[in-house]
Amino acid sequence: MAEPVFSAWFRCAGGCDFRAALTDVVYSCPRCGGLLEVEHDRAALAGRSADEWKALFDGRFKLGRWPYGSGVWGKKEWVYPQLADENVVSMFEGGSPLLRIDRYARELGLDDVWLKECGVTHTGSFKDLGMTVLVSAVKEMRARGGTVRAVACASTGDTSAALSAYCAAAGIPSVVLLPRGKISTAQLVQPISNGALVLELDTDFDGCMAVVRQLAETKDIYLANSMNSLRIEGQKTASIEIAQQLGWTSPDWIVIPGGNLGNASAVGKGFQLLKQLGLVERLPRLVVAQAENANPLWRATTGAHVRPTPSVEVEPVTARRTLASAIQIGAPVSAKRALRALEALDGIVEQATEQELADAAARADRAGMFTCPHTGVALAALEKLAARGVVKKGERVVVISTAHGLKFSDFKVGYHEGTLAGVTPALRNPGVKLPASLGAVQDAIAARFGRG
Ligand SMILES: *Cc1c(COP(=O)(O)O)cnc(C)c1O
Ligand SMILES: [Zn+2]
Repeated sequence: MAEPVFSAWFRCAGGCDFRAALTDVVYSCPRCGGLLEVEHDRAALAGRSADEWKALFDGRFKLGRWPYGSGVWGKKEWVYPQLADENVVSMFEGGSPLLRIDRYARELGLDDVWLKECGVTHTGSFKDLGMTVLVSAVKEMRARGGTVRAVACASTGDTSAALSAYCAAAGIPSVVLLPRGKISTAQLVQPISNGALVLELDTDFDGCMAVVRQLAETKDIYLANSMNSLRIEGQKTASIEIAQQLGWTSPDWIVIPGGNLGNASAVGKGFQLLKQLGLVERLPRLVVAQAENANPLWRATTGAHVRPTPSVEVEPVTARRTLASAIQIGAPVSAKRALRALEALDGIVEQATEQELADAAARADRAGMFTCPHTGVALAALEKLAARGVVKKGERVVVISTAHGLKFSDFKVGYHEGTLAGVTPALRNPGVKLPASLGAVQDAIAARFGRG
């Protein structure tokens, strides 16, 4: 039997019938200005049974022949089927742990909470999942004699780290525009180390984004921001992995922090495809969590008591400073996409204050995690929904952890030293400074745990 031929292309999500190849340099619809999305030949995908797909994906998971052991490329037929294998730029991304966090769950009165550690990957954030697809597409364009000289992005830190690592691995020049003084040291040093041209602009993320959009009007600089829908194809594999790690079932809830809202849209896309192709029976409900200091989606929906649907208009705001710096975004590029995902997955939008996100992150850490502040936003949202009885005991919840906590050590240190602005740490655990004497150490142990 001949192998079925799978294919994918850009199509206009704005309603017109514009189509383009995935190697065309195009980010929005040239006819109606709508966002683009990657569409797959679903009839071809449906030509394989759910059981065949499960067997194929399970057989490759973290083991298969290069690059199919990657969490993204193990699902290549659903991501970018016609890409030549030799143009795949992979750092063995994805395949991240899905942990059950029982001690944390119990504190919330829940009993089935899991953490999908998307930050346990090459550059320490979920951005690797999308960037492997985008940079592979650029490698394919260049292999065919395309005009792209360099790839550029505006970033709140993690996108630039992923872009510069994948570009360096492929030998493709990269340019990153960062808001000066608004990202963590670990995030800044990654693109510097990987040899990107690092431009620190005296503005915020939205200001960097405005410049990079103009920069990418010439076709020799390729735009790597999440308005580029190739990234969403890679990011949606986190959802496929979650279903796979749960024995091809959906949880009741997925909770995810949202800034530019590309990742929330990717969750919708992933689960909808899983359901359409019969790999799961039902969709989870989606919770998008925003920082109160950067909450345009929350204001337009839950803050206004409006159900999230694509007809909601998300007014841009000026994002205020938040510890969750990677989601300090006032004008989310993928708001419409996220609203579509929220509608399809019967979603809720929640928000968290600085105090709530910092304590939620610390609470999870006390149960053995090491969570970044954005994951703290998602956890705080879950805590509020559990307290209100919206999320209930017996329901299965997966919280998406978007980055590794080690990228945000300033946040951790500041919490435990009690120096974070606007936060009174409820779970402070500073180091105890002592002279080098047995008595002092024994006293400190007794003070914490009582006498033996
Ligand atoms: C990019 C990022 C987010 C936000 O994802 P969006 O797709 O912009 O909503 C959240 N957390 C971390 C750690 C990130 O790097
Ligand atoms: Zn269009």
